Amino acid sequence: MSSLSSSREETVTDRLVAANEQYASQFTDPGMDARPVQRVAVVACMDARLDLHAALGLRLGDCHTIRNAGGVVTDDTIRSLTISQRALGTRSVVLIHHTGCGLLNLTEDFRHELAAEVGQRPSWAVEAFRDLDSDVLQSMERVRTSPFLLHKDDVRGFVFDVRTGSLREIEPGIAPEQ
Ligand SMILES: [Zn+2]
Repeated sequence: MSSLSSSREETVTDRLVAANEQYASQFTDPGMDARPVQRVAVVACMDARLDLHAALGLRLGDCHTIRNAGGVVTDDTIRSLTISQRALGTRSVVLIHHTGCGLLNLTEDFRHELAAEVGQRPSWAVEAFRDLDSDVLQSMERVRTSPFLLHKDDVRGFVFDVRTGSLREIEPGIAPEQ
């Protein structure tokens, strides 16, 4: 327990900082540069049940991970992928959505209700979706049609099942149900 917490209740961040002290005490510099060893960028939902490194057998230094609500390919995702490919040498893109995603229960009403509540309209779309498979295809299409990316021949999309831990690949040839 740190001295900070004597004057107030310990927060989750205090526990993270304490965990880092432990981590750093055993850390040895792996001597890597910033270029991902496997030359892959993974775009995935921020969902707490998705442990990307464990689920994909990835190790420290292997990949870029770009995460947001839904694992949606937004302008900011394209920004990160562009930097990943053009400045840091990645060539493959893996997109991962998952079962039980919080975005499946939202609609763009979320945005309208938010605007009504706070008096300011967000500049971003909620990017809610009802069909996981078609949204993975949508994300793949956004990557494949981006003029900014150098490498678009190895773009694959998957749905991760949070109950089984398995990935199911989404094939672009199969038309999504609308
Ligand atoms: Zn999610």
